[in-house]
Amino acid sequence: MSANKQKVTLIGAGLTGPLLALELVKRGFQVEIYERRRDMRSVRMSAGRSINLALSARGIHALTEARLWNDMQKIVIPMKGRMMHSTRSEMTFQPYGRYESDVINSISRAELNIALMNAAEEGGVTIQFQKRCLGVDLKNGLVQLRDEQTGEERSVGIHVVIGCDGSSSAIRDRMLKRSRFNFSQQYLDYGYKELTIPAAAGGKHALQTNALHIWPRGNYMLIALPNVDGTFASILFLPFEGKDSFEQLSTRAAVLEFFRSRFPDAVPLMPDLADNFFANPVGSMVTIKCSPWHIDGRVLLLGDAAHAIVPFFGQGINCGFEDCTVLLQLLDEHGPDWGRVFRDFEHARKENTDAIADLAIENFVEMRDRVSDSHFLFRKRVELALEEKYPDRFVPKYSMVTFLRVPYVTALRRGQVQDRILTELCERVDRVEDLDWARAERIVHEELTPLESS
Ligand SMILES: Cc1cc2nc3c(=O)[nH]c(=O)nc-3n(C[C@H](O)[C@H](O)[C@H](O)COP(=O)(O)OP(=O)(O)OC[C@H]3O[C@@H](n4cnc5c(N)ncnc54)[C@H](O)[C@@H]3O)c2cc1C
Repeated sequence: MSANKQKVTLIGAGLTGPLLALELVKRGFQVEIYERRRDMRSVRMSAGRSINLALSARGIHALTEARLWNDMQKIVIPMKGRMMHSTRSEMTFQPYGRYESDVINSISRAELNIALMNAAEEGGVTIQFQKRCLGVDLKNGLVQLRDEQTGEERSVGIHVVIGCDGSSSAIRDRMLKRSRFNFSQQYLDYGYKELTIPAAAGGKHALQTNALHIWPRGNYMLIALPNVDGTFASILFLPFEGKDSFEQLSTRAAVLEFFRSRFPDAVPLMPDLADNFFANPVGSMVTIKCSPWHIDGRVLLLGDAAHAIVPFFGQGINCGFEDCTVLLQLLDEHGPDWGRVFRDFEHARKENTDAIADLAIENFVEMRDRVSDSHFLFRKRVELALEEKYPDRFVPKYSMVTFLRVPYVTALRRGQVQDRILTELCERVDRVEDLDWARAERIVHEELTPLESS
């Protein structure tokens, strides 16, 4: 490719920015990132902003292509399934999949971000911190920046700019002012707060290590993901207002009483619960859909800037990293014909990112509510039995999204068909042995073709 050190400007050194930048430099581009935050490698992270992420097939594929995954395995903990905690402190384990390799990987967002920034800089990317992008002037080919330390504003010339600046993207804000730009944002009535479960004696994990722990309580839930240092990063998801809400937990006594009655086995593991609770902010969760993602081969949105989703399928960054994979493939195919690459990119991604946005909302209901419901658990057993019998046709939605790289839209559509099949087969049956297997055989073959996975 004859890129001849063409300059590409990225806004945002969060998770997608440095990965994309590194891969662009390898392809001969000169890449500069402007990031509004301070460099997290030289300042302590603010409390409550270091949530863990679950990395799965799509994210791992992109990191493997960038030759980063091998080293990263030192900072991840594989989680083999969900460990459900009841109000009576009983625990039930639900594996994520049938195979040993069906795991998701817990990683600290900060550590992942640092590893990506280090790799990008070592690869030749320049990252300028505390430079907030204020907008883009397309007519004159400029991005406007403000130095967050001095308040000084200046403009820098751009050839191509990619907005990797997350769900509150400044680049997208600029695009909003154009005619016929479609935009929707939908906030959940739920917020989230990060809490910590410290390491037990000897630096060991206080709960079973290789699981994502969930305390599902119908309308709300607590989760905990393991860290390599023996701690768990825990997140409380709760409505902002009303019964059992953040609004009601305004005193230490109310917080402790709430946790003691709802999550009794978690309380002894959280000696600093009340301090943590009031020190950490409540975050909000939003689904953003917009289009077009690009202007004139000069500007592109990628990652959360183009399609923020709620975190309940653990796919936000996996999807953002898959954006990088697809964009780079198109660049390898067409060279720096940016207009074409950006158009094809949106064409390839939009229906998939819309699909995972919808799947993530659906999974919210499943995680907080249905994972402890006995009929749901029976359906899961039937799902597993069908998967065992028809492994190439009946692949659970969770596996398609998490362990395979089939397009999200395929996972959504096949998932809907499979849900219908499960509803039909589970009607008036409550034991797997009593299933009508002849009917199952017929429906599965009629309605599901063999799954083509990559
Ligand atoms: C509670 C929670 C749990 C989650 N769990 C998971 C999970 O388990 N698995 C998963 O895959 N995903 C998860 N996600 C989603 C994941 O965090 C995001 O999808 C991912 O961070 C998006 O990456 P990004 O690079 O697009 O944006 P970000 O990582 O948000 O990075 C954007 C960067 O741009 C910078 N920036 C913003 N505005 C400007 C500006 N004007 N000028 C300059 N810089 C700017 C920001 O400071 C930031 O560094 C979770 C999210 C939340 C909130």
